[in-house]
Formats: sequence, structure tokens, C-alpha cells
Amino acid sequence: MTYNPFSLSGKTVLITGAASGIGRATAIECCRMGAEVVITDINPEGLEETFRQLPVQNGTHSRIVTDLTKEEEIESLADRLPRLDGCVNNAGIMKLVLTPFLTTEIIERIQKINLIAPMMLTRNLVKKKKMKNPSSIVFTASAGGVFRVSAGNGIYATTKCGIDAFMRTTALELGSKGIRCNSVNPGMVETNLIRSGQLSEEQLEKDKKNYPLGRYGQPSDIAYAIVYLLSDASSWMTGTALKIDGGMTLA
Ligand code: NAD
Repeated sequence: MTYNPFSLSGKTVLITGAASGIGRATAIECCRMGAEVVITDINPEGLEETFRQLPVQNGTHSRIVTDLTKEEEIESLADRLPRLDGCVNNAGIMKLVLTPFLTTEIIERIQKINLIAPMMLTRNLVKKKKMKNPSSIVFTASAGGVFRVSAGNGIYATTKCGIDAFMRTTALELGSKGIRCNSVNPGMVETNLIRSGQLSEEQLEKDKKNYPLGRYGQPSDIAYAIVYLLSDASSWMTGTALKIDGGMTLA
């Protein structure tokens, strides 16, 4: 068979936040490209549905329910994992709150899931020698925050800028161990996250028209980029924030 640098054949990949949206699409595309996947999420029903949708069912994939806000659950997840070729730190939440209405509870919850959990998981995977040499860690950051800010998005944007800074730092620290770190920075993608009642359908329809490509992203648009960052095709890329936003941040 001819060598395909974009293939994930023979690789084992962990994906967090895999019960829906970008995480589910990433699990499906990784599997389609030949990877063995370990999927994790706080939502057992959604995780089961993703598992059911995996295009190759050969008994090698696994799912583990984890609440990433709990340090002991992150540690136990890391203990249960095989050695990995890839890790996708994707789980995240968004809440739009204007600064005067921010509460400590909202700040802490968004920070815990979007920023602290990927840091703790990465630390655990490295300390427990779960990442192979070579291997790839991908963080799902956001174009909103890193490349553009909007009202009400202060805490979410802060966590996404933070995770990009962490990604670049770990890329610097872990390069000598053969571990690459990169992020994807999506614009608005059609998932539960943007349909959680914070923006009306009318506002979303209006916003879409401002995109040069005239549409929001689909979860697979982001999954394809993540597959690339996990594959050997990107083996000289580390410390890069890859913006995938249909041109959202150009104007
Ligand atoms: P989503 O809501 O469909 O998926 C997020 C997943 O994270 C869910 O399955 C959820 O159960 C899981 N999760 C939440 N809290 C958790 C916890 N405590 N422990 C474990 N899992 C938990 O949304 P999505 O759009 O697919 O989001 C995926 C990532 O993409 C997030 O990091 C998000 O910030 C980022 N992102 C999304 C968009 C967008 O427009 N949809 C844009 C930029 C960045």
C-alpha cells in the first residue's frame, strides 16, 4: 500500500468533549482515517451515540465518562488510557455575560472546563508518560477571543486566549520529547454551543451573512483540520494557532 501522510492508521487518539458537535465529528473523522479512538465526555448518552456512529466498528475503540471539572476524574482518566499518538483537548462551554453581570461562579466554571481541565489533562498525560514520541496534542481554542472580541464574551475569550498561550508554552517545553502542540481556532460552528439560547435564530441568521463564505462552519470543517494536526502531514508544525473561520475575522 502507498504511504499516506494524512492517514491516522495505527494511531490511538483521545478526544474530549466527544458527545456532540466538534468532538463527535473529530471522533468520526479520526476513525474514518484509521485511528483507534478513546472518546470521553461528561454526557454518557451523547458519548454512546458518538460511539454508535463511529464508521469502523472493530472492537478497538473505547469510551470513558469523565467530568473534566474534577481533578480526580482527570487523573483516573489518564490512568486508564493506553499510550497515545494524539490527544484532542476539545471539551468546552460558552456563556455570554456582559462584564458587570459576571459572577464568580460563572467565571470559575468556564475557567475550569475551558482552561484548567486541558492544562491538567496535558500535565497528567506527560507525567504518566502516556504521550508517545512522536505524538500530537491539539487544543480547541476559538477565533472569537484570540482573533476577535465581541460584547459579552469576556470570560470565554479570556479562557481561549489562555489556552492558546498554554499551547505555545507546551509546544516549547515538549518539543524535545517529540510532542507537538497546536490549536484550532474556529469561527461560529453549527453545534449545541451556539444554539444554547444565548443568541436568537434571527441574530444567528443575520450574523452568518457577514461571513465572506456566507455560512457558519460545520463540525466536520474543524474535524478535518484536527485530523491534519494529528497526522504525520503536519509533523513540522508546533506552536501554531490555526484559524478556521470562513473569513469571519477578516473584516
Ligand atoms: P458542544 O456543546 O457540542 O460540545 C462540547 C462538549 O463538551 C459537550 O459534549 C459537553 O458535554 C462537553 N463538556 C462540557 N462540560 C464538560 C465537562 N465538565 N466534562 C467533560 N465534558 C464536558 O460544542 P462544540 O461547539 O462542539 O464545542 C467544542 C469546542 O469548540 C469547545 O471548546 C468550544 O469552546 C470550541 N468552539 C466552538 C465554537 C462554535 O461556534 N461551536 C467556536 C469556537 C470554539
